[in-house]
Formats: sequence, C-alpha cells, structure tokens
Amino acid sequence: MMDRHPHPDSVRAGQIAARVISEVASAIKPGVSVLKICHLAERKILEYGATGLAFPCNVSINEEAAHYTSPRGDKRVFPDQGLVKLDLGAHVNGYLSDTAVTVDLDGSYDRFIAASRAALDAAIEIVRPGVRVGEVGAAIERAIRKTGLRPIHQLSGHEMKPWTLHAGKTVPNIHMGGGPIMKEGEVYAIEPFATNGNGTVRSRRDAYIFSNVMSNRSRVDRLANEVRNIARRRFKTLPWASRWLKSDRYDVDAVIHTLVRAGAVRAYPVLVEGANGMVSQFEHTVFVSKNGAIVLTGRGDE
Ligand code: MN
Ligand code: MN
Repeated sequence: MMDRHPHPDSVRAGQIAARVISEVASAIKPGVSVLKICHLAERKILEYGATGLAFPCNVSINEEAAHYTSPRGDKRVFPDQGLVKLDLGAHVNGYLSDTAVTVDLDGSYDRFIAASRAALDAAIEIVRPGVRVGEVGAAIERAIRKTGLRPIHQLSGHEMKPWTLHAGKTVPNIHMGGGPIMKEGEVYAIEPFATNGNGTVRSRRDAYIFSNVMSNRSRVDRLANEVRNIARRRFKTLPWASRWLKSDRYDVDAVIHTLVRAGAVRAYPVLVEGANGMVSQFEHTVFVSKNGAIVLTGRGDE
C-alpha cells in the first residue's frame, strides 16, 4: 500500500534532528572543542527522545566535505575562520532522519552558504511523485553554478528506509539526464555540496566512522570476534564512531583495524575536496507526498 503520510516515527526523528541541529549549530564558535560539539549533539538527540543516533555526529571543517567525527580524546578546536558542516541524524524505532547545516565561523564565506542553501531549496521545490532524480540534480547544479561555485558531483543524496541510511535510489548533485523516478511515500535525504575546488572528493587516510558488514563471517581472533559481536548488537546496520567503543582491556582502534581488514567492518574515511577547495553543505530529510516534498527536518528559523 502506498504511504500517503510520513510514518509518525519518521516525523519524530525529523523533529528531533531539526531541534538538535539548530541548538548545536549556535554553539559552534572559534576555539570551541570539536569533541564537545559531537558530545553535545549526540547527548541531545537521546535526551529529546530518539531511540538512538542515525549515525555519529559529523563535524567537517573547510576542505573536509564529510565524515569527520572526533576520535576519542580529540583536542581539535574550531579555527577563527572557515566553514563547518554539522551533519547529524536521529532514529526512532529505526525510522531515520539526516540533516546538515554549514556554519560560517567569521562571516567571510556567505557565498558558499547561499549556494548550497539555495540549491537545497530548489531541489525541495521540484520534488514530487514522478520527478526523475536527475531533474533534482539539475536544479541543484543550476542553483550552485549561478553563484559561481560548483557542486561536488561525487557526493549525492539518498533514499532512506528503516534501519538503512543509504537505501535504493540516489539523488545526484549535478545534472544527470533522467535516472529513476521518485514515488509517493518514499523518504530522501537531499544534500547539495558547493565548492570553489574541482568538484571531486578524495578519501583521506584517517577514518573515525564505521559500519558493520552484517553478512561477514570471516574467521578472526577471539577478541576481534567479541568486538564484532558487540558492535553488531549495539549498532546493528547503522554507522558508528570508533570513540563509542571503549575498553581498558584492549586497544579498540587496533581491533577495529583488524575487523576492517577482515571485511567485517566498513570504514568511512574523511572525504576532502579534490583540490582542497572550501565546502558548504545543507541537507534535509523529505517525504515525497502527492503534493510535493514534506520537509521532515524543517526548522523554525528557516
Ligand atoms: Mn547527512
Ligand atoms: Mn545524507
């Protein structure tokens, strides 16, 4: 049966993420600890009634496009100037939300903020049953190019299903003729990225976000097997941060590394812009209704 209205848990997950992101974004200032912001966001998501986090709070700075979250004991602080992407999500009984804003630390990058925000608005404007994801990408690209910046074409929005953050269809950030159509009842995260670089991303060597490969049955040592089971029980199919695993008995990062090599855990390295350009991003979770997009992560301040 076709879902004509968003699931109540999906609505709740969206409201929680929206409230948390506006509160936490206002705490991002030069000199503030990145780890403190990750903790604050993750604590508030649970405090406001989520079943859990959809994924670790991402705090990516300047040329980092995505996937930075503080490691344990992170001493990093926000610089005096630059762009901070705060990207977070909640889940309520597996129904997910995913939303992001960019904070301009000293107001010198307003063109970047305007570009990705306008692109997200343009995308939301044309979402309806029957639209092709490629048309949404075209609207995003057009809005970003108008500002003189370019979209990051290697990153895209994505359909979301309960317990699965990246499910099914993707929403490109550039004009791509056609593609599959959006259907009533589907939920998408739409996330335009604008840059003054070359529009690509590359993986850095460091990774702080991981997810379980549930089907993996590789033989690993007893300790790695124990950690594989703990991670599966705690995080199921959703991404997790290395800092969420703690032990005085063993070196958590070494065990995670073993699990990655065994194919039991997938690593999400920090993604940086291909030419080290500055990057901005805005993201909303939307429900495709008969009358167009219902923004599930909408905030009062927009
Ligand atoms: Mn996101
Ligand atoms: Mn997303």
